[in-house]
Amino acid sequence: MKPIDSLVALLPIEHKTIYTVRYIDNLIELAKEDPAMIVIMRATATEENIATILSRLEEHQLQGRLIRGEERTIIGVVGAAIPPTLQEELELFEGVQETARITRPYKLAAREFHPHDTIVDVRGIKVGDGSCVVIAGPCAVESEEQIMATARAAREAGANMLRGGAFKPRSSPYTFRGLGEEGLQLMAKAREETGLPIVTEVMTPTDVPLVARYADVLQIGARNMQNYQLLEEVGRLGIPVLLKRGLSATIEEWLLSAEYVIAQGNPNVILCERGIRTFETATRNTMDLNAVALAKRRSHLPVIADPSHGTGKWYLVPQLALASIAAGADGLILEIHPDPDRAKSDGGQSLTLANFAALMPRVAAVAGALGRTMAEH
Ligand code: PEP
Ligand code: MN
Repeated sequence: MKPIDSLVALLPIEHKTIYTVRYIDNLIELAKEDPAMIVIMRATATEENIATILSRLEEHQLQGRLIRGEERTIIGVVGAAIPPTLQEELELFEGVQETARITRPYKLAAREFHPHDTIVDVRGIKVGDGSCVVIAGPCAVESEEQIMATARAAREAGANMLRGGAFKPRSSPYTFRGLGEEGLQLMAKAREETGLPIVTEVMTPTDVPLVARYADVLQIGARNMQNYQLLEEVGRLGIPVLLKRGLSATIEEWLLSAEYVIAQGNPNVILCERGIRTFETATRNTMDLNAVALAKRRSHLPVIADPSHGTGKWYLVPQLALASIAAGADGLILEIHPDPDRAKSDGGQSLTLANFAALMPRVAAVAGALGRTMAEH
């Protein structure tokens, strides 16, 4: 993806064509100044309206930072003490559309900073546009036969993207840790045949250039959510990033990790809830659907759900997949395998190809009940 495409993806959909690279650069500069509020001007606001706001801010010992889109201007308010009534006061001024307090430690990822949903474009598949995206594939790429059979079945059943790990973070060093570059090559082969974009994990900053040569989406695993060097490295590219929530990360920490990526200039972040550690041991993790609904509210980024890792049990995956869509997830990432009993990793939480095919119409039915459609593929 060209950098300009990735930057444009951050922008409100109705304004896609009118903002420029300078706009995101300026947003990043503004975020560094820790603005306490933003003032969104109407498209019809005059220069005089803008100047009036700036001088009113000065009277309050505050500074206004202008960010000009081609159609409208926003003003970031920078300064120590924001009077409690400032918001109300400014909203009365001519030319002001709305104001928003920025109270959270993350800025670029915050809904207040960027009220419209971000849509991440993965080779034409739109994640976050209201449609329901499904990513399916094995936990790990194991062989050509396995990945090709899985990719064909995934496509047949209506999946939009293929997942598959070549570099696997495993809790034990003695288990299968992936095929490495050979796994990436097999994923690329599956993409070539099926047309499905590929999602694959990158585990270290030094592997980023290699994995980025193959991947359409770079997955950051739960164990790496707070690997800040890795986040910055993928932030320097325009390639979409699937950011999994850490095993015991708060929603705020998760969004701060997204902030690391965006602050490097890559706004194409897809959040992924994959279950958290709780006192409960009956399931591998506890699927936190609160987080799906809340992340959608607090952030403009798309949020998808991973009920495979969220439950750890294949027979619970369909229910939690449907519940995730009902909770507002923009899509699902599911582990599927031609022969889960013989899978080299995460077989117990992988759906058979037939069970996956049976689930897809039910996902479409829940999406339909909510007035949503399945993403086009
Ligand atoms: C995976 O997707 O196979 C994986 C390792 O996920 P997580 O990082 O969420 O554990
Ligand atoms: Mn897995």
